Amino acid sequence: MTPNSELNRRSFLTRSAAIAAVPAGATLAGGVLAGPASAATLPDYAPVPPSALGPPLNAQGYFVGRVKRNLYWVTDGTYQAAFLATRRGVVLFDAPPTIGNNLQRAIDRIAARTGASNEVTHIVYSHHHVDHVGASSLFGPHVVRVGHVETKRLLARDNDQARPVPLPDVTFESHHRLHVGGERVNLAWHGTNHSPDNIFIHFPNHDALMLVDILLPGWVPYNSFNVNEDVGGSIAAADTAMTYRWKHFIGGHMGRLGTRKDMVVYQQYVSDLIENVKKALGAVDPTPFFAKYGSNSWAAVKAYQDAQIDYAAAPVIEKYTGVLAAADVYTASTVFPILEWIRLDLGFDLQIHP
Ligand SMILES: [Zn+2]
Repeated sequence: MTPNSELNRRSFLTRSAAIAAVPAGATLAGGVLAGPASAATLPDYAPVPPSALGPPLNAQGYFVGRVKRNLYWVTDGTYQAAFLATRRGVVLFDAPPTIGNNLQRAIDRIAARTGASNEVTHIVYSHHHVDHVGASSLFGPHVVRVGHVETKRLLARDNDQARPVPLPDVTFESHHRLHVGGERVNLAWHGTNHSPDNIFIHFPNHDALMLVDILLPGWVPYNSFNVNEDVGGSIAAADTAMTYRWKHFIGGHMGRLGTRKDMVVYQQYVSDLIENVKKALGAVDPTPFFAKYGSNSWAAVKAYQDAQIDYAAAPVIEKYTGVLAAADVYTASTVFPILEWIRLDLGFDLQIHP
């Protein structure tokens, strides 16, 4: 296949997973999707750099590959899971519903090739978000599920009664060492980041780290800085990740694994955003917005902040177009939570009425 037809085939195969990643209610929420979309009127974006893409998917819509030794990863091009094929069964890390039944197919495929067991005995949850663990129920009631204590609490609180996600059987608060079939995995919680319960999954004998929804190798963060619940914690999580020893990074998203270099690019992208937001806070004059909207304070604030966001995003979009995929799609939306973090948490430029 030519590179172009290969790209087209990949985008066709990944489209279903990417659409499944959007909440079902999104099309009902109004806005541009309220009317029928027309390809002719939709905006154009910069091409996705080939370096952002992973290996091609098979006819069933997934790819399974080796990370190192008996650690494997599975992707549908948008979501990722991993599994450790031990001599005492398979430990699965996350069960994204978009990969769904392809998880067992991927495990079967490796088991057929290596002669190892295809029976999932443990599932480790990275965090409670159902887009990463919603297919856990496929593996039945006899699997040992492991997760942070807060993962259990949040799943129990929010579980959809019609399709509940099985709760972790084994929970921990700060550290947990998982031993299965002679393999060791270190689970650790280092504070709130993307979610209150998002954990670090370190494979010390496989040179690998799994940390979901922080760095999406090759891509800028998803909408609103990966909908991170704690901006400062998410930024710190990247620094913490770099204190671990690893070569291979499993980010939970998109079509390929990451490297330490990807993490450095991500950290630079975030620090460029912070620097430009700080500039924008000083550079954009609020006067015209308040003059126009008078007593409608929210209209004035919104227009003023939109101008700050555009000011901060523009140089970052320019710098990262061609480096990180979708820099022109989601950078502006990530500026907003960073701007609020700088204002509200860091108190940058705080002024007290004289
Ligand atoms: Zn998440």
